[in-house]
Amino acid sequence: MTAPILLTPGPLTTSLATKQSMLRDWGSWDADFNRITARVRERLLGVVHATGTHECVPMQGSGTFSVEAALGTLVPRGGHVLVPQNGAYCQRIARICRILGRSLTTVDYAEDAAVQAADVDRALAANPAITHVALVHCETSAGILNPLAAIAEVVARHRRSLIIDAMSSFGALEIDARTMPFEAVIAASGKCLEGPPGMGFVIARREALQRAEGNSHSLALDLHDQWVYMQKTTQWRYTPPTHVVAAFDSAIEQYLAEGGRSARGGRYADNCRTLIEGMARLGLKSFLPPAIQAPIIVTFHAPVTPNYQFKAFYDAVKARGYLLYPGKLTTLETFRVGCMGQLGPRGIQGAVDAVAEVLAELHAAA
Ligand SMILES: *Cc1c(COP(=O)(O)O)cnc(C)c1O
Repeated sequence: MTAPILLTPGPLTTSLATKQSMLRDWGSWDADFNRITARVRERLLGVVHATGTHECVPMQGSGTFSVEAALGTLVPRGGHVLVPQNGAYCQRIARICRILGRSLTTVDYAEDAAVQAADVDRALAANPAITHVALVHCETSAGILNPLAAIAEVVARHRRSLIIDAMSSFGALEIDARTMPFEAVIAASGKCLEGPPGMGFVIARREALQRAEGNSHSLALDLHDQWVYMQKTTQWRYTPPTHVVAAFDSAIEQYLAEGGRSARGGRYADNCRTLIEGMARLGLKSFLPPAIQAPIIVTFHAPVTPNYQFKAFYDAVKARGYLLYPGKLTTLETFRVGCMGQLGPRGIQGAVDAVAEVLAELHAAA
């Protein structure tokens, strides 16, 4: 059976070149491998125009490991984090703060509403004890795009620090350190840069990292220690995911050849449009208002048919070569389709056609 196309928010469909770059073993101590690490770190800084001001510190593990490393290392033990919440990834940040014992304030939104900069402004004005704002740029649970530029402006005006979970936006949506001041931005290998999963990275302002010694509750997730060790030795502290790093390097090379951020974001926007229009023709409505829909992942209301069950729907679409993603809303029956990965509107149209066939079967059986 040929492998299905993943319409998921990571792991996602990678190119053949990316997969092939995992067919070689690397010594973690070897200069050839450490040159790859250095190139990856340098190019990641370039993606968000942070060369010179920030440092890129890679971290083993899935994206959450890097989120926890960033919060635990950059927020001092006496720090206080404001988390605007409109989905599961925001809730995860709040949970990390609670577990790490960092003071926490949340601003809560519905699952179909974007964070408002004015609310962050009010919350910061009301509480001078807040030191950091942790914002999820694209809330992957429903697919909402939060207004990063406006929030970065508010946080900077109040002289607090901004930590951005840009896991599902980095490389596709605009993030610019020169115009959107941030202390740290966090992402991972297996999302919009289309590498395999297995490592994350934190792009942190150099002075913030320098100040962060001794903050971390954790040995393995101490970003400061990882950074200092890497600066000193060019190596990862503890075993790196060598094949993932090599494949990520190749994926970034292909990203730059495609045209970088604007080309990648443009392709995903085309995918998103093709998807929403195609599904609408099948009577499947997307959940979010278009103004706050990020071109990354789309939540759809489940088909209205007496026989609908996500699992059977999923299996039938899978049999036609496409993997969908379950919904993540608390009250509504939904499913999700990713716009990201190594595919274009033709791939998306193939998925829409597969869904059309499955719907026809469901309706016929009803
Ligand atoms: C994918 C993702 C993460 C990290 O999830 P992992 O399963 O740990 O890779 C964090 N935040 C957002 C917004 C994400 O989309």
